Amino acid sequence: MDLQLNGKLALVSGSTAGIGYAIAHTLSREGAAVIVNGRTQAGVDAAVERIRADTRGTVHGLAADLSQAEAAQEAVRRFPGIDILINNLGIFEAKAFEDIPDEDWQRFFDVNVLSGVRLARLVLPAMKRANWGRIVFISSESGVQIPTEMIHYGMTKTAQLAVSRGLAESVAGTGITVNSVLPGPTSSRGVGDFVEGLARSSGKSAEQVETEFFQSVRPSSLIRRFATPQEVASLVAYVASPLASATTGAALRVDGGVVRSAF
Ligand code: NAD
Repeated sequence: MDLQLNGKLALVSGSTAGIGYAIAHTLSREGAAVIVNGRTQAGVDAAVERIRADTRGTVHGLAADLSQAEAAQEAVRRFPGIDILINNLGIFEAKAFEDIPDEDWQRFFDVNVLSGVRLARLVLPAMKRANWGRIVFISSESGVQIPTEMIHYGMTKTAQLAVSRGLAESVAGTGITVNSVLPGPTSSRGVGDFVEGLARSSGKSAEQVETEFFQSVRPSSLIRRFATPQEVASLVAYVASPLASATTGAALRVDGGVVRSAF
């Protein structure tokens, strides 16, 4: 299938590793020009180099903390014609409810929600002028099944669903679509570090830790393993493409069936 992404410019926030990297790589492989973003120049340069070496496409680097207003404004000034915005950057941390201070609630909101809201607001005028655009929020199954070990994270992932649906309705009748994608447990760099840490501290292998995770923490998973970042990226690339023009205002799951709902 040709995703018809030639000539499109895509910004993927937080794309030097994990799901974001897989999305940027896939969009580049499918012909889009891609802006790879991370917070350090070295991380960005390495990711740009790896993608370029594989796809030979146009890959720009953007070293910036896109959870900051100034950095977001500067990014859109530097790249005024963004056709596809993938709001991927996000943080998570397990913490008991009683131990989450106001500052953490605020920080999680700022980084996971407001960063994407702000970028969407900044790219929307150009998308409206072009009467074409794709905005995708990378939410999570945790926005539907709120994890008790990180309620603040769940809150941000639910908020993204609200923003995404509301924004889709606000651009009704245009060529712009807005959707959210809900990955389940995925073997990104962040999750890989978490599993390896657990394996080291418990004297178990990473495979054992994964098996036990799906037995006790996420027993509703139907695939009973972590999804790969590529499995998430394949859905995102389709949603970001012209082919997905009738998919908007949707919350699309790529969660290995972990959410116990048929729709
Ligand atoms: P990750 O930690 O493996 O990678 C995140 C990337 O974002 C890294 O390149 C990091 O440097 C970058 N980043 C973080 N904060 C940034 C900032 N302020 N500015 C610029 N770059 C920044 O993360 P991941 O697991 O791939 O998660 C990506 C998204 O997917 C997140 O929104 C997360 O909530 C969501 N998600 C992940 C999972 C999972 O199991 N991995 C499941 C559901 C949803």
